[in-house]
Amino acid sequence: MNENLLKIAEKLISTGSLSTTEYEFLIDNRNTEIAEILKNEAVKKRKEVYGNTVFIRGLIEISNICKNDCLYCGIRASNKSCDRYRLTKEEILSCCDEGYSLGFRTFVMQGGEDLHFTDEILVDIVKSIKEKYPDCAVTLSLGERSRESYQKLYDAGADRYLLRHETADEEHYSKLHPNKMSYKTRMECLKNLKEIGYQTGCGFMVGSPYQTTENLAKDLKFIEEFSPEMCGIGPFIPHVATEFRDFSSGDVELTCYLLSIIRLIKPTILLPATTALGTAEQGGREKGILCGANVIMPNLSPHSVRKKYELYNNKLISGNESAQEIENLKNSMKNIGYEIVTDRGDIKEN
Ligand code: SAH
Repeated sequence: MNENLLKIAEKLISTGSLSTTEYEFLIDNRNTEIAEILKNEAVKKRKEVYGNTVFIRGLIEISNICKNDCLYCGIRASNKSCDRYRLTKEEILSCCDEGYSLGFRTFVMQGGEDLHFTDEILVDIVKSIKEKYPDCAVTLSLGERSRESYQKLYDAGADRYLLRHETADEEHYSKLHPNKMSYKTRMECLKNLKEIGYQTGCGFMVGSPYQTTENLAKDLKFIEEFSPEMCGIGPFIPHVATEFRDFSSGDVELTCYLLSIIRLIKPTILLPATTALGTAEQGGREKGILCGANVIMPNLSPHSVRKKYELYNNKLISGNESAQEIENLKNSMKNIGYEIVTDRGDIKEN
């Protein structure tokens, strides 16, 4: 075993902090032995905070209409072959009804940047969910909005906001997004969300086009410094109707390795084993949990629209991905020694 590698791993385990160069070294020189060490330590830390519990979130994909044109994304504005839809308030509330009876206590409303969803419309929906289900958390994942808008939604009762930073390197950011979008705006949004008081989630794709190890190291350093309550990472998977169609998918092992590292950076973090991880490899989500993840977000969208929210090729929409299959998911977690709980699943700050 490379002595330097071990030393860096030990530093991460004991302090939760490394320099960008050290993160880079840890990624570039990884081997199965060091991955096993980090995984065991990550699981140990997650168990100290969360025991063997796994939190679930009901994911409601409220619209695939989007004004943005992110180069990697299947629902980007310029994808003319995307069959667009938007859920009504009634449809969203009935997803919550079904979710509640299945044991979900967090609802995540995710969607493209659909201009139909004004502050007024969203405030009304958030308030309605919170009135009906005051014991539930509402998470929003609706992209970039103004600080005022984030504030209004927070005041209406939204608890959490997911906005992946996508990459913590400005130049890399510009290769993944159209000129209209900027790294600075994305970072500004994240800062605003946190200042307002949301439990805030950032995150990135593993193996996105043009990504270097240095980029990933910067992502880790950013997570360390921003200290988000949540972090979503999953492998990049190409979508046939985007210009990134010929790039290969991100690596499952590397994604799991990074999950362990993120758990070690911030032991209390809410860390999902994502749909993309489950899509990239059968059993991928279980692998993620075994490497330190503690959240799963099954799909609670109406069956009729699931296929249409296609961010990447072959996105899982059935099997354990489906909220309705929660019993199967519970069993598959039980088989690996974990337990799905009925709980809002807030971060346990210590
Ligand atoms: N409009 C919202 C939701 C975007 S979809 C927002 O901007 O936050 C949620 C996440 O899916 C994105 O942040 C991105 O990281 C991920 N994603 C999009 N396309 C993907 C692809 N081709 N492969 C893997 N993940 C992808």
